[in-house]
Amino acid sequence: MNVCSYGYVLSALMVGVYLKTYIMKNNIFKKLIEEIDEFNNHEFRLLKEKVEQRIYSKRVSYILETPLSELNCPFCTHSNFIKWGKRSDLQRYKCKNCRKTFNSLTKTPLSRLRRKGHWLDYSNCLKQGYTVRRAAAECGINKNTSFRWRHRFLTNSKFIKAEKLGGIVEKTHLKLKESFKGSRDKILLNKKRKNVFILYAVDRNHNLFDITNKGFSFSVVKRAFRNVINKDSLVLSEKNQQFIKFAKQFNYRHTYLSSDSRKLTYSTYSEKYKNLFLEWVNNRFRGVATKYLENYVAWYRARNEFKSGIKAITILYRAKSIEKYRHQPLKMTRFI
Ligand SMILES: [Zn+2]
Repeated sequence: MNVCSYGYVLSALMVGVYLKTYIMKNNIFKKLIEEIDEFNNHEFRLLKEKVEQRIYSKRVSYILETPLSELNCPFCTHSNFIKWGKRSDLQRYKCKNCRKTFNSLTKTPLSRLRRKGHWLDYSNCLKQGYTVRRAAAECGINKNTSFRWRHRFLTNSKFIKAEKLGGIVEKTHLKLKESFKGSRDKILLNKKRKNVFILYAVDRNHNLFDITNKGFSFSVVKRAFRNVINKDSLVLSEKNQQFIKFAKQFNYRHTYLSSDSRKLTYSTYSEKYKNLFLEWVNNRFRGVATKYLENYVAWYRARNEFKSGIKAITILYRAKSIEKYRHQPLKMTRFI
């Protein structure tokens, strides 16, 4: 038998396998349709849920597929790749350079997360600010998954903050004690707890910028705010050495935040914002672990955006890739 004949036989075999699979699937489907009237309510509900989840999963996958023109191998950045079947409703590719396989979510915070059919529901739970347990119950997932999804979905949110502040800019800070919540490490739990700081800057147009840091030195303030606050701004701050030194060194017009509500220098936003954040963290979550603090700060920041009607799918887009959203200015809604 020559090479040509081998090729012919192989093609015929593949067509045979494909036809057999098609006929089997078709028979299973016919049987299901015939017997659907025999299902009791419970079975019917289970089937309906399963079908809905499959539809949602396909829809989410379709939405999150990166267009071919924008796709590169996430391992070696080459654009020379071929389609390599489908898995978990996503197109898989094989890189011709490094030979690795990947899909549109590889190396993103959503990589390897399962049960895509629930992702939109879970994004809505994030919008509502639900606890891990409540979100788990709403989506029919277990609480460990709920916790993992929360932090994966929020991973990129910490990059979404105002890039420029102008006019009257208020600066303030929040000091918290280090927390090891959720840890079972006895050495860690007995460790002396250090301070953690969140530094805020917000202008009167409700543009907000914050950073979370273990220190509150001048260099931290400088690094955080130097390129964010416009040069012609009037900076209002607490009577704090780091903030004062920053204003002096970079020649900002500067004065202190006033406690007199009749004055222009009264804190209209920043003080209330940080107090409400503290209340949210303490009452809703009974404190949060420091290693996740930045995610909660970002979540709280985003919650004000959510109130302005952000769609659940946008949360997934952001979770997948920050690049498209990094340069979009963040406008906070008025929440007080
Ligand atoms: Zn590659």
